[in-house]
Amino acid sequence: MKKVMLMAVAILFSAATVFAAHSTNPVADTTKTKKVKPVAKVQYTCTMHPEVISDKPGKCPKCGMTLVEKKPEKKKAEPMKM
Ligand SMILES: [Zn+2]
Repeated sequence: MKKVMLMAVAILFSAATVFAAHSTNPVADTTKTKKVKPVAKVQYTCTMHPEVISDKPGKCPKCGMTLVEKKPEKKKAEPMKM
């Protein structure tokens, strides 16, 4: 009977330790906190000519098409394609 109690205490203790460690553990996500970067620069490009880049809206000098906004960084994870 004493042994059982000891085991129960040990289990409780380890459980409490794990819980405490878990709650006091600095969250690993702190380094991954989302930082919304202000859009530094918007660039415009031609859909037909990616090499054409302008920092303001206008027309492509090559084909005259209206330049479209170009998003330099795409950090969004691509949705899984099934
Ligand atoms: Zn063009």
